Amino acid sequence: MSGAIMSFLFPPKCVFCGRPMGAGAELAVCGGCEGRIPFSGGVWLFESGARGNPGGCDEAIGALAYKGVARSALSRYKFAQRPEYGRTFAALLCAKISRAAAERAAALGEAGNPRAAGAPGASGAPGMAWAPAGPRAPSSHGWADGAAALGEAGAARPADLPGARFDAAGGLFDIVACVPLSRARARERGYNQAEVMARHVAEYFGRPFAGRLLRRRPEALRQSGLQRRERLPNARSAFAADMAEAEKAGLGGKRVLLVDDIATTLSTLHACARELKAAGAARVIGAVAASR
Ligand SMILES: [Zn+2]
Repeated sequence: MSGAIMSFLFPPKCVFCGRPMGAGAELAVCGGCEGRIPFSGGVWLFESGARGNPGGCDEAIGALAYKGVARSALSRYKFAQRPEYGRTFAALLCAKISRAAAERAAALGEAGNPRAAGAPGASGAPGMAWAPAGPRAPSSHGWADGAAALGEAGAARPADLPGARFDAAGGLFDIVACVPLSRARARERGYNQAEVMARHVAEYFGRPFAGRLLRRRPEALRQSGLQRRERLPNARSAFAADMAEAEKAGLGGKRVLLVDDIATTLSTLHACARELKAAGAARVIGAVAASR
């Protein structure tokens, strides 16, 4: 849907307080709420090899702490028919990912020399390729312009609000996926809040979106899978990768950014990541709007 139609259907309102925003506001966060957003303190929730990493995601990152205005806004996003919030949550997540990538690149001493890093999809140590993705694909939202304008106005803005560019993190992953919703939920809600965010994230970073890589297993199949779990090691998982879709997306050897709205225990992200890896993904970074 085009940006013009979107703003006609959904006149921009601050996602945190509902205050009407000026026409063309790309990030629906009002000035009054900027200082109230509970940004997540940590940058990466954990890293591969860290204690307590149960396997699945190699890393995970969250933009916000799941409390205060973030908690109520995410609740409206999920349960009160506000799919338009996805764009703002995606932007906040992208800002966080970009900052984390820039910080890591600086720590690796490659900040001033992006050409030294591997190209996206290059073999070698996954996750060590920090090259910018290059110019972002033109955005139907006109995001780049809106973000640049915000940047000029906002010397005192919190560091985790989006800046003018997201492409610093484009080298971290090759493809964007999302945690699937059950069919019943999707029917009842009309949209998958993780998918809406993931589509925007893919667009912001100029990466392909593969929305059908994973599906939720019906409960009955999970139960019947219990007896056969020796032969089917992932049968107990609530998720399954679609091998035809994996083939279509060229998942083999790719690094996936796996998007969800809220992570409470990370078990969902890990379960999805294990399926993606079983289907050929080389590396999975979990990315959520908010974590507890
Ligand atoms: Zn507000």
